[in-house]
Amino acid sequence: MNDLHTGAPEPATEPELFVEFANTARLSAEPMADDSHDAEILATWLDEHGLPTAGRSRVTAQLPAFRGLRALVREVAARLDGGRQPTRAQIAAINRVLREGPHYHALRTEDGGAGFSVMPVGDELDQARSAIAGSLAHYLADHDLQRLRVCADDSCRWLFVDRSPAGRRRWCDMRTCGNRAKVARHRARARASA
Ligand SMILES: [Zn+2]
Repeated sequence: MNDLHTGAPEPATEPELFVEFANTARLSAEPMADDSHDAEILATWLDEHGLPTAGRSRVTAQLPAFRGLRALVREVAARLDGGRQPTRAQIAAINRVLREGPHYHALRTEDGGAGFSVMPVGDELDQARSAIAGSLAHYLADHDLQRLRVCADDSCRWLFVDRSPAGRRRWCDMRTCGNRAKVARHRARARASA
């Protein structure tokens, strides 16, 4: 899918974290895929987005949870794209991910009470997933739900937020997917008139 989007990006808008996660964390949907490769991609993505990554082996161990969150984001987006609301089950699933996120600090004694240290308690990768789910939750609460779309190009299916004034965008990027659709229509017309 990546090679479809090598052109310059659309004019800058603030990207939603959950949209970026659904589109660029190119985790295979199937567990039998190459896990170490996926872990590498995911760790790099988390790092690039300022999210906690923990160690590579922990990222590998938590791949199923990230894949699950990615599937959830895409399912919610598909509902909205079809003009429907998220289901109760989807909302409960988002809340479960959010609940796993919080962490707290704990004061510990060291050297038999001679000193203290403060350590964060909680799983870094749970926090990363919670940040992604939080971005989705805030989007659902604060934005026009009809503007979250799934690209109409079947070979793409990226998520995007339609920020055009008219709100009728069908493709994630006019210069790639939109242009392919235009070329295909043009060819079909040429064939029909031939
Ligand atoms: Zn697209």
